Amino acid sequence: MRKPIIAGNWKMFKTVEEAKAFAQEVRGKAEVAGVDTVICAPFTQLASLVDALKGSSIGVGAQNMHWAENGAYTGEISGTMLQETGVKYVIIGHSERRAYFAETDETVNKKVLAAFQYNLTPIVCVGENLEEREGGQTKDVCKTQTEAALQGLSAAQAAQVVIAYEPIWAIGTGKSSTAEDANDVIAYIRELVKGQFGEETAAAVRIQYGGSVKPGNIREYMQMSDIDGALVGGASLEPASFIELVEGAR
Ligand code: PGA
Repeated sequence: MRKPIIAGNWKMFKTVEEAKAFAQEVRGKAEVAGVDTVICAPFTQLASLVDALKGSSIGVGAQNMHWAENGAYTGEISGTMLQETGVKYVIIGHSERRAYFAETDETVNKKVLAAFQYNLTPIVCVGENLEEREGGQTKDVCKTQTEAALQGLSAAQAAQVVIAYEPIWAIGTGKSSTAEDANDVIAYIRELVKGQFGEETAAAVRIQYGGSVKPGNIREYMQMSDIDGALVGGASLEPASFIELVEGAR
């Protein structure tokens, strides 16, 4: 059985003080037996969040990393630096990074490989935009992105990756994919993992849905055969809503 995983993606929101207050409010509450909970925050908040959540089961993640250990890369953060803060997860290839910050399938793959060097669990985002959706290219886009992202991993590493299927047209728009449609694409992504790494890895890899997930619709997704959790933006910013999302995944 795959353990459900709910990850909040705070994007570029909250100050350190706000992050600490959030952590105090969700400690002990967004912790449900049988569900993994993660908060992915901006770099400046990571060390304080790890500290504020010490002794809890809530994991902390970054939203990006560079693949090199160090070097002349102004403005970037390496896996060593993330590891030092105590984070355990890192989002890689979010569609906003692909669209606004020139993230490509190649850099996504470099970052996924690098994450494992630093014992970070990558949450790898894939998904089609509206034009691709309407053009019937959803599965082709997911195939290209998924296979490129996981290239060069061992089967054991691939089994540990968390994949987030996030149709871009559903992010922050209030237009969520139906649970059936999301499950169909996610089952297809699992087939891709099977083709690349074999049946055992495909059965173990956790695949989330992301895109306008809220406390009101989380259960619909969680009931589906292949959806193992959610990557949540807007609805992860308020403690009460975040707690409800985690409870809805049990
Ligand atoms: P949303 O964002 O839940 O606000 O749609 C999801 C995401 O971008 O990860």
